[in-house]
Amino acid sequence: MNIQHQLFINGEFVDAQDGNTIEVLNPYDNSILARVAEAREADIDRAVAAAKAAFPAWRDKAAMDRGLLLLKLADAIEADRDNLARLESMDTGHPIRDCLNLDVPRTAVTYRYFGGMADKHLGSVVPVEQGFLNYVTREPIGVVGQIVPWNFPLMFTSWKLGPALAAGNTVVMKPSEITPLSSLRIAELAREVGFPAGVINIVPGYGHTAGAHLSTHPDVNKISFTGSTVIGRKIVEASAGNLKRVQLELGGKGANIVFEDANIPAAVGGSAFAIFHNQGQACIAGSRLILHESIADEFIERFIALAESIKQGDPLDPETEMGPLTSKLHQERVLAYTQVAREEGGEVLTGGEVPKGLEQGCFVLPTIVRADPSSRVCNEEVFGPFVSVSTFKDEQEVLDIANGTEYGLGGGLWTNDLQRAHRVAKHMRAGMVWINCYKRVNPGSPFGGVGQSGYGREMGFEAMNDYTEAKSVWVNVDAQIPPFYKR
Ligand code: NAD
Repeated sequence: MNIQHQLFINGEFVDAQDGNTIEVLNPYDNSILARVAEAREADIDRAVAAAKAAFPAWRDKAAMDRGLLLLKLADAIEADRDNLARLESMDTGHPIRDCLNLDVPRTAVTYRYFGGMADKHLGSVVPVEQGFLNYVTREPIGVVGQIVPWNFPLMFTSWKLGPALAAGNTVVMKPSEITPLSSLRIAELAREVGFPAGVINIVPGYGHTAGAHLSTHPDVNKISFTGSTVIGRKIVEASAGNLKRVQLELGGKGANIVFEDANIPAAVGGSAFAIFHNQGQACIAGSRLILHESIADEFIERFIALAESIKQGDPLDPETEMGPLTSKLHQERVLAYTQVAREEGGEVLTGGEVPKGLEQGCFVLPTIVRADPSSRVCNEEVFGPFVSVSTFKDEQEVLDIANGTEYGLGGGLWTNDLQRAHRVAKHMRAGMVWINCYKRVNPGSPFGGVGQSGYGREMGFEAMNDYTEAKSVWVNVDAQIPPFYKR
C-alpha cells in the first residue's frame, strides 16, 4: 500500500515549508504507520492563497460541470474501495468489514448525491408588488476552511467537500493530526479525475497551530467544524475577526429510550449498534440507554450477553466486529470514566477494562454501567464503547431525562405505539431522532444538532443553503415609481 504523506496544496503534493512531520500511529499495535507533513501557519497561508486564486474560475464553472467532477470522484472512490478501506482501517482502527460496507460506500454515495445536486439547488422568484421582478440566487461563499475530527475521517471529508464544492466554493481542509491518511488519498483521486488546482487543498496539522490559523484567517469566508464543544467555542471566537460564517457539529450524549411495548430483541440489537459501532466513537452514539422499569432486567440481561459476545481484534481481520479506539490518549480517557462511574456509586455491569490479549493496542471492552441520570457518566460525552443505563416510570420522566443534558444531537426510541412514537420524537430536544432504529444517515437528510451540539446542518438541501449566500435581485420591469423628492 502506497501511503501519501505530503500536504496537498494547489494541485501538488508538497512538503511542509519548515519540513516538520507528524507520526501517524496504527492503533492496533501503536506502531508507526506513516510520517505525514505537518502544516503550520505558512502552509495554511499557501493553501488559502491557492484556494482564493482558484475561486473565481470554480465559481463561474457551469454547475453541471462541477457536479460531473464530483460524480467522477464517487466512481474513483468505488474503484479504489479495497485500498481506501484498508487505509482507513489501519489509520482509525475501524474494523475492515465496516470500512468496506459502511465508510467507503457512504463516502462514494455522498459525493454522488452532491454531484447530482450541483445543478439542482435552485434559486427562487418572489411574488413582489406589480411592476417588479424579484429573484433570489444562491452564490458560493468563497474560500471555506473545514476542520475534521478523527472518528470518521473518510466519511466526514465527503460530508464537507461534497456540498462545499457543488455550491462553487473552494476548500482548505485540515484533517485531524491523528487520522490524515484517507483525506490525502481523496486528494490524489480528486487530482486524477480532473479537479482544477487550488479547488481542494488538504493540510494535515495540529489544531492549536494549523487549525487555529485557518479559523482566524482573514481570507477564509466560512469555517465548517466538526469536533468537540470546547474547541467549537474557540472556533466561534476566532471567527469574529472577519465575521466568517461558522457551522458547528459538536459533541453529543444520545438518549436511547426503550418503552415497555418495544420489540425487545430488535431494541437490544439496535442499541448495541447505537453504542458499540465504531467503538462508540460517534457524536450520535446512543450513549444513554434509558429503559422502562418493567422491562429493564430482561433487557439488561440480553444486552450484556450481546456486548460480551462482540469479537474484538485485528481490524484487518474480516471477522473482527470491534477494533481499538483511535488513539492511546483517548483509550486512557475512556477507561478513566469507569473509575468516575464507581466513585459516583454506579455499577459496572460488564467491561471497563482492556481486553485480555490485546494490551498492545488501544482496546477497551464494551462497557455497560448502571448509573443515576444526574451522574457525570450520564451527562459528559465519553466517546467510547461505554453506555450508561438508567430506568424510568412514565413518558414525562423519560423526556425530562432525555432532554436533561446540555447536548441535543441525536436520540432514539423503541416502541410499537404509533402515537407515542411521534409524540416523544416531537418533544425530544435533538437535531435527529430515530424511531425503532438508530444512527441512520443519508446524504439527503439533514445532520446536525441544537444546544451545545452546535448549529448549521450538513447534508441535503440544508447543507447547500449553508454553503451559499442568498442574493436578492430587484428588476423594474414596468413600474411607475412615485418620486420621493418632488422638484
Ligand atoms: P477536537 O475538537 O479535539 O478536534 C477536532 C478537530 O479540531 C481536529 O482536527 C483538531 O486538530 C482541531 N482543533 C483542535 N484545536 C483546535 C483549535 N484551537 N482551533 C482549530 N482547530 C482545532 O475533537 P476530536 O477529539 O478530534 O473529535 C471528537 C469530538 O468530535 C467529539 O466531541 C465528538 O462528539 C465530536 N464529533 C461531532 C460530530 C458531529 O457531527 N456533531 C461528528 C463527529 C465527532
